[in-house]
Amino acid sequence: MKSKGLLYKGKAKSVYTTDVKGKLIVEFRDDITAFDGGKKDVLENKGNYNAGVSAFFFEFLEKNGIKTHFFSMLDPQHMVVRELEMIPLEVIVRNVAAGSLVRNYPFIEGTPLDPPLIVIDYKDDSRHDPMLNDDIIVALKLLTPAELKKVKNAALEINRLLSGLLAAQGITLVDFKIEFGRQGKKIYLGDEISMDSM
Ligand code: ATP
Repeated sequence: MKSKGLLYKGKAKSVYTTDVKGKLIVEFRDDITAFDGGKKDVLENKGNYNAGVSAFFFEFLEKNGIKTHFFSMLDPQHMVVRELEMIPLEVIVRNVAAGSLVRNYPFIEGTPLDPPLIVIDYKDDSRHDPMLNDDIIVALKLLTPAELKKVKNAALEINRLLSGLLAAQGITLVDFKIEFGRQGKKIYLGDEISMDSM
């Protein structure tokens, strides 16, 4: 497979079209950012680690019934994925109170959240990714009510699978962010699951 033109350069990854219809190459760069891109630096080998961890989690999730965009790794930094029309939502699952949840609401840091919380933000750096609710998501036509239910169920199942996998290694999955995209009517897990998103 050959990489063709650059389709999109994000804050940490670059996406390339390929000579194969419906497949893209995602390059995991060594760039690190914070505060919606307001702070930037470079961390050697970060791209390789994030790509490797994402591939490992995507394969594990596929084996356990989750539809993901992952096809294969071309090399340690380049992943072949299904081309999706990304839905501009950040779906966050939280098992322990931390971060913005503690800053914005009267949760005490470190409190276990049982059942886990799903928070969905609108992916738009210029608006600082504001939190949405179900009505706003449907009113903006980002998802239908039935799709929203499917996305939430998938997020909880992904959380259950990853939490179990990590707990076996003595790691608590506090929270993580995932993104979904469409191919036709089907919704797939896209983007990455790595140390940048947990
Ligand atoms: P953020 O860091 O807030 O997620 P970004 O757009 O800067 O934003 P990057 O990870 O640098 O993020 O860029 C990767 C881009 O590729 C994202 O916009 C993501 O939605 C998109 N993307 C991920 N998977 C796919 C896919 N399968 N098909 C098409 N686009 C994808």
